Amino acid sequence: MWYVIVLGGGSGARMGADCNKVLLDLRGQPVIARSVKAFEGLVDGVVLVSRAEDISAMEAATRGIGMPVTIVQGGDTRQSSVWNGLCALPEDCTHVLIHDGARCLVDEGTIRRCMQSVEACGTGVAAVPVIDTIKQVNTAEQAVSTFDRASLRAVQTPQGFTVEIIRKAHLAAQAAGFLGTDDASLVERMGHAVHLTLGDRRNIKLTTPEDMVMAEAFLDSSYPALRIGQGYDVHRLVEGRELILCGVKVPHILGLLGHSDADVALHALMDAMLGAMALGDIGKHFPDTDEKYRGISSMTLLRHVTELLHAHHARVTNCDVTIVAQRPKLLPYIPLMRENVAAVLGLPLERVNIKATTTERLAFEGREEGISAQAVCMVEQH
Ligand code: MG
Repeated sequence: MWYVIVLGGGSGARMGADCNKVLLDLRGQPVIARSVKAFEGLVDGVVLVSRAEDISAMEAATRGIGMPVTIVQGGDTRQSSVWNGLCALPEDCTHVLIHDGARCLVDEGTIRRCMQSVEACGTGVAAVPVIDTIKQVNTAEQAVSTFDRASLRAVQTPQGFTVEIIRKAHLAAQAAGFLGTDDASLVERMGHAVHLTLGDRRNIKLTTPEDMVMAEAFLDSSYPALRIGQGYDVHRLVEGRELILCGVKVPHILGLLGHSDADVALHALMDAMLGAMALGDIGKHFPDTDEKYRGISSMTLLRHVTELLHAHHARVTNCDVTIVAQRPKLLPYIPLMRENVAAVLGLPLERVNIKATTTERLAFEGREEGISAQAVCMVEQH
């Protein structure tokens, strides 16, 4: 069983912030929430080490994470905080990653490489080659020696170990009164090999205000994650109902039957949006057995789905909807449909396409028994 210990204990001193730097907002999410989420789906649980005064803020920041999160209080030093985290691991936990809460840009590849190395040889520590030439100086700030850059590595986190190795290393360091700046150094001093794996240059430790600017730039350039969604819907044409498509009332002798206003085009679009985010479909979110959705405008539902995406830090970047209907001619109503959809999604018109086609009188649409709609959309998630 794999756990990650995330260290959330730092102050905001070098950041010039009046709160713990890992609680700062980075493009709409606390830094610590991003650091913990990076491990979602890769490990079985998280032990988050926090200062006593930050515990409730940490709870709020990590609510809704899809794995067990245990929050424990840190110690006076980084090393004693890690020890507290180690003591809070479940008994059946065999492998552990230790990660700085301020390294919230860590990517899946870096994490996986550490884990694979631990499984193969007991240790796996993320590191990158050193680009700068490193010199040793004396107290007069004079260079006394130059290191061979090829033999140097800048070490990051995660640092992964079997629980057995890292517990032993911490106990040995405690007994000797040794204080290291990372966990690997405790394992090294036991004479145990520490294997380095390739980290990532973007996996920076947020320390100064300049780091926040860099992190935002990295997020803007390498994220967002792009996701695609697809939706399809059909409603039956009947007498005595209004025909509403993309929020526009289209004059016709027949209308679409349904629990809501039966706006087949918006239903397909909403299913595409939910599909992109793996959030199911509109039937799950707005069940037709619920009286509160009887006759409801699908424009209202589209607003709900848009807000739901926002809650997941996601938004539609463009969409394309095809309405399949033999009659009536929809062309005159398309501009208004696009305006409706663009307004709710918060998009310029040129990112919303709506088109209509017939089926040359073939199939149920051609026989005017019903109207179908298909939609695709692109969603970006920060
Ligand atoms: Mg429907």
